[in-house]
Amino acid sequence: LPVIAIVGRPNVGKSALVNRILGRREAVVEDTPGVTRDRVSYKGEWLDRRFTLVDTGGWEPDAKGIDASVAAQAEVAIDLSDVVLFVVDATVGATSTDEHVVRLLRKTKKPVFLVANKVDDARQEPEAAALWNLGLGEPHPVSALHGRGVADLLESVFKVLPEVSAVAKQEIGGPRRVAIVGRPNVGKSSLLNKTAREERVVVNELAGTTRDPVDEQIELAGKVWRFVDTAGIRRRVHLQQGADFYASLRTQAALEKAEVAIVVLDVSQPISEQDVRIIDLVLESGRALVLAYNKWDLLDDDRRRYLEREIEQDLHHVAWAPRVNISARTGRHLEKLVPALETALESWDTRIPTGKFNAFLTELTQEHPHPVRGGKQPRILFGTQVSTRPPTFVLFTTGFLDPGYRRFIQRRLREIYGFEGSPIVVNMRVRE
Ligand code: GDP
Repeated sequence: LPVIAIVGRPNVGKSALVNRILGRREAVVEDTPGVTRDRVSYKGEWLDRRFTLVDTGGWEPDAKGIDASVAAQAEVAIDLSDVVLFVVDATVGATSTDEHVVRLLRKTKKPVFLVANKVDDARQEPEAAALWNLGLGEPHPVSALHGRGVADLLESVFKVLPEVSAVAKQEIGGPRRVAIVGRPNVGKSSLLNKTAREERVVVNELAGTTRDPVDEQIELAGKVWRFVDTAGIRRRVHLQQGADFYASLRTQAALEKAEVAIVVLDVSQPISEQDVRIIDLVLESGRALVLAYNKWDLLDDDRRRYLEREIEQDLHHVAWAPRVNISARTGRHLEKLVPALETALESWDTRIPTGKFNAFLTELTQEHPHPVRGGKQPRILFGTQVSTRPPTFVLFTTGFLDPGYRRFIQRRLREIYGFEGSPIVVNMRVRE
């Protein structure tokens, strides 16, 4: 879907505008301090147009952090969206905080809409008109709260919004798309640089538009790969607070565009909650997964033993992901990344014929029938793989299967078919 991003200072009414466009009343409010919303991207629909709306303002900075926060929003929005809505409070006008952002927005080739919010009635329109001087074109006066002007704004937006996101355009048969993700300082940019230096960079700057390079194509082991959102890796937002929020926003957006993710971990540090969260984002996205344990050159025997224990404890649920122990600094084992990516993608694309899958189910249920629950025993009538990328199965049953039994089926599927590097999804339809 095409992506519309919303950028602006705190209190200009971004949430109100998001809610108005999505047709909701309340913003989702999370109680993590500093993060007002846990989700940043929403599927939206207006008349017959569907789109993704990205609210980049989910992190509420303190007074000191405002400038950096708005700049980070703009940077993320410019890279990841097809159209940017820049929201200004018309009753206040542009402030010094807006200056830096305005400069960024003027430079981009992407369409930018200047939204003059809080114009609750026609008498305030001259205030909105004063925003012409920002050099971002015509101000669009709206009242996000009352809905005034929003339909007109969206009509203009849809005139320039592509049907399919240029950013996320999936070239079928094109190079496979890889996202390098991980928390800050694990070595993502070192890995990218080392790889790009030693291998042929095919087209250095690939993008939605030529001015805003987003992806890079690199030839590895004789094949071209597309590394998505390398802009986000190379040009890091330097923020103290809020860095997690923008990092997570970028990670989600990169995963959206990718087919396979390399999660980079730093073996010189304990595996952290943040590492686990990033892996969870990959699992939620349904993308194939490779784990790269980086900075292997820093590992001593003690740390190494401890690391293996941590992996067993914290990353047991992704034990099916191919693992490569690398050093972006020395180049150790970098050549093993490609086979790992290929394995993961192959699993991700795997389809099991319905006949085979049902033979598998029959054997499994004969050996290990579902436990009897309340005098009844749910039976699996039939199963089929409904899609690949990732492999997704549906089981038609006579009753709800225990979660434990479903996990057992998943484990068995992996034992028999491998699916190394790919999540698998098993859904259930209960036939009455
Ligand atoms: P990013 O934030 O994930 O992109 O991390 P960087 O690539 O900027 O790396 C963070 C720091 O770790 C830098 O000082 C790198 O030089 C260092 N680093 C990255 N990879 C390795 C590695 O394999 N071994 C060692 N010893 N240091 C590394």
